[in-house]
Amino acid sequence: MPLSVVDLYRDVLPKTNCRDCGFATCLAFAGMVVSEKLPLDGCPHIDPETAARCQKILDAQHAAGKWTRRDMAEDALVWAREKAASMAIEDLPHRIGGRLVGKESNVELELPYFSGLIRIGRNGVRKADDEPLNRWEQVFIYNHMAQGGKVNPTGRWKAFQEIPNTVSKIKSMRAHVEIPLAERFSGKPEALAEAARRIGGLDKIREHPSADAAWRFTPLPKVPVMLLFWNQDDEFEAKIKLLFDETVCEHLDIESILFLSERLVQLLCDNQAG
Ligand code: SF4
Repeated sequence: MPLSVVDLYRDVLPKTNCRDCGFATCLAFAGMVVSEKLPLDGCPHIDPETAARCQKILDAQHAAGKWTRRDMAEDALVWAREKAASMAIEDLPHRIGGRLVGKESNVELELPYFSGLIRIGRNGVRKADDEPLNRWEQVFIYNHMAQGGKVNPTGRWKAFQEIPNTVSKIKSMRAHVEIPLAERFSGKPEALAEAARRIGGLDKIREHPSADAAWRFTPLPKVPVMLLFWNQDDEFEAKIKLLFDETVCEHLDIESILFLSERLVQLLCDNQAG
């Protein structure tokens, strides 16, 4: 049986987020092992026998190209860049929001991104504080530029599976987004609240009283995301559902919705206190 990010996180890694591997969370490390072929012994806290057994499985799945995203990421980025290259930066604010900064040949779009800002220019996309964006973030930002319709969010929410053409991605949304997040914050609504606030989340529990917590994020000005959380109880395990505005497909393709959701997971995990 191949090892997915969730398998590795849930069954193999210690889940202590000690950072000895150089990543902020065990989940982030698991993602890099599965998709970027990082050696499992980068975590010094797995017993050597388990590490050797799992590494054999990982080597086999890497050789078969399973879940390896390096090549896919490069291809997707080249394609998305090309798609966005014909966009006039000056036209972007009225389509996707943000404001123009700089002059003439150096003009850039400054766009809110979660709780920070990104700059989109003729030479690429970067964070305003010059921190790098990962390839998947760049892919969905370029896709947003290329696809971004003018419509504004309506405030009517849809579950991922209600969005057309998501059937083949529903499993990925559960495996890479909803399950790891629910496991991560099970029994810890305060930790979720703190992480959510740190990345610009707004408390919307009044609008979703059937959940135990509801947080609205604004990854991009026209692409809000609602996270609903039900905590574990005697009968049920914790559950997380992401909702998207009904206009989301005007702004992102399905793959990009998934990448953006995965980025939300990473940010919440990285911003969990302790
Ligand atoms: S070294 Fe990394 S993967 Fe291992 S327990 Fe610490 S944070 Fe988790």
